[in-house]
Amino acid sequence: MKAFHYLADLFYPRLCLACSRKLLRHEYVLCSYCQVQLPKTRFHLRKDNPVEILFWGRCDIVAGAAFYKYLKGGYVQELIHNFKYKGFQEIGIFIGEKYGEELMKNEIFAEVDYIIPVPLHPKKMRIRGFNQSEVFGRGLAKSMTADLEVDNLHRIVHSATQTRKSRWDRYKNVASIFGIKDAKKLEGKHVLLVDDVITTGSTIEACVVKLKEVEGIRISVAAMATAAH
Ligand SMILES: [Zn+2]
Repeated sequence: MKAFHYLADLFYPRLCLACSRKLLRHEYVLCSYCQVQLPKTRFHLRKDNPVEILFWGRCDIVAGAAFYKYLKGGYVQELIHNFKYKGFQEIGIFIGEKYGEELMKNEIFAEVDYIIPVPLHPKKMRIRGFNQSEVFGRGLAKSMTADLEVDNLHRIVHSATQTRKSRWDRYKNVASIFGIKDAKKLEGKHVLLVDDVITTGSTIEACVVKLKEVEGIRISVAAMATAAH
């Protein structure tokens, strides 16, 4: 088996999915350099961090954090690109599991009951074949004491007439983009809403507004990376 791996490495060298260096045999997804050097936010250890501030006055969250700082042209962007558009789902699982270990060091994240991925638009789901937030959530669930809850929060597919509504009308109805299938299950629970990258935060905001309709729910937010830092 070892000989086989050696040969496979020789003909199809596995590359770091962030910086494209050749991976050593014991390395997986990221090379040792990127494991250490990719810019981590450490926001989960900081109250009133830039991710939390992003949602001030917009929606009510308990805590918010993101693993990496997202910089244009940086290796984190490359990593996310390989994950979302090149089909390397192992990135989401790997980063999720690693980040879950970090999040467990903060008691707020450690007491989360359910991990809820931001639902992907069905059209994108058909093109991509997977929901990147769900894959990331699956990784988080491996190292956190919370269950992954898929499809409870879901996207409502609007009819053609609704699609023709003005941008303002759609903005007003932003919470109607999402629906909840089983609200009872989420009553009084602390849920962790997860996404790949937080930029403006508008999708997360719409999800939080919808989830807030559930009695006694508490919502925290986590992403793989954020442009807010
Ligand atoms: Zn690397």
